[in-house]
Amino acid sequence: MKSKIWLSSPHMGGSEKTFVQEAFDTNWIAPLGPHVNGFESDIQHYTGARHAAALSSGTAAIHLALILLDVKAGDVVICQSMTFTASANPIIYQAATPVFVDSETETWNMNPEYLEQAIQDQLSKGKKPKAIIPVHLYGMPAQMDQILTVAGKYDIPVIEDAAEAIGSRINGKSCGSFGKFSILSFNGNKIITTSGGGALLSDDGDYIRQARFLSTQARDRAPHYEHTQIGYNYRMSNVLAGIGRGQMEVLDERVAARRRNFERYAFYFEKVNLNGYHIGFQPEPAGYHSNRWLTAITVDPATNKGITREALLRAFELENIECRLLWKPMHLQPVFQDYPFYGNGISGYIFDTGLCLPSGSNLTDDDFDRIFSVLDSVFR
Ligand SMILES: *Cc1c(COP(=O)(O)O)cnc(C)c1O
Repeated sequence: MKSKIWLSSPHMGGSEKTFVQEAFDTNWIAPLGPHVNGFESDIQHYTGARHAAALSSGTAAIHLALILLDVKAGDVVICQSMTFTASANPIIYQAATPVFVDSETETWNMNPEYLEQAIQDQLSKGKKPKAIIPVHLYGMPAQMDQILTVAGKYDIPVIEDAAEAIGSRINGKSCGSFGKFSILSFNGNKIITTSGGGALLSDDGDYIRQARFLSTQARDRAPHYEHTQIGYNYRMSNVLAGIGRGQMEVLDERVAARRRNFERYAFYFEKVNLNGYHIGFQPEPAGYHSNRWLTAITVDPATNKGITREALLRAFELENIECRLLWKPMHLQPVFQDYPFYGNGISGYIFDTGLCLPSGSNLTDDDFDRIFSVLDSVFR
């Protein structure tokens, strides 16, 4: 059996071990410590967000953002439908109601027009949404200008889910700096990883201080353990923050490598498309800079001589190459299908025809030879 080519595997830079060793040498094996502070300051400098709290996961970051915005039982929170379930789950943790919004075709992210329709319809029912959660799918920034304009018009805070988008920008402004809150993830398959981890970012220092307090069990100032609020165990470990500091040193290289992957695929499929196929890509609008975390294509059998993304998936599987279907939109998930949805089905279409190709920053030329020979056999 040929060695496995992964969709997106961890890619260490080298100094992660030095940072982790330092944590051991100083015995800072705790959910706080100098690496946590250092990692937070790296994240702030990189994204331009003024404050950051390193946490146990991106999901925890979204949960804390909702708590800090006082999202309670019965409240409405608007969320992009085309995303990983972690964007929406914390809404349910707060016993609030998720309302899902479809994608547009320019970036595959939250459609600002349906967002406004969702807000107006919820307002007409006497429910002012408490927050809006747009996502930068596979690293491609959402239409933040338009989304922030709509959000501002109705005075609703935005929680920017930048879990997949550290290193992405719009007109030079970094993803992770657009929302009242922004969140990052450092889970195992993200563009940089701490094995598991996340961060909550904001320009508002009071919010981030409060997030640190809530993430360490909400312990009041007192000689004993005193609690006036319910807390969480959501802080990042100092050991893992050491991995994060090493990963931040190579982040720009990782983005460059992922963008090169995308260009290789784009070049290949441009040639394929000259032979009567219509393979689609996630476009990158002018002024946008995606980290191209994952390269995703659309393969509509109606315009590709009957070829389906399932056929591609199977051909790759036979060669021990991992590909994945796209995130299945939340409004189509059994667990969320009874909640409101505003849109015209674009996210469903993208899901039905989409496929994520191997996109690791550590793919070799030999790996690409194997990948392209599978594609050659399908698009003969
Ligand atoms: C990975 C991811 C998250 C959650 O991050 P975790 O660190 O895995 O909890 C949230 N939203 C999106 C879009 C993600 O891809």
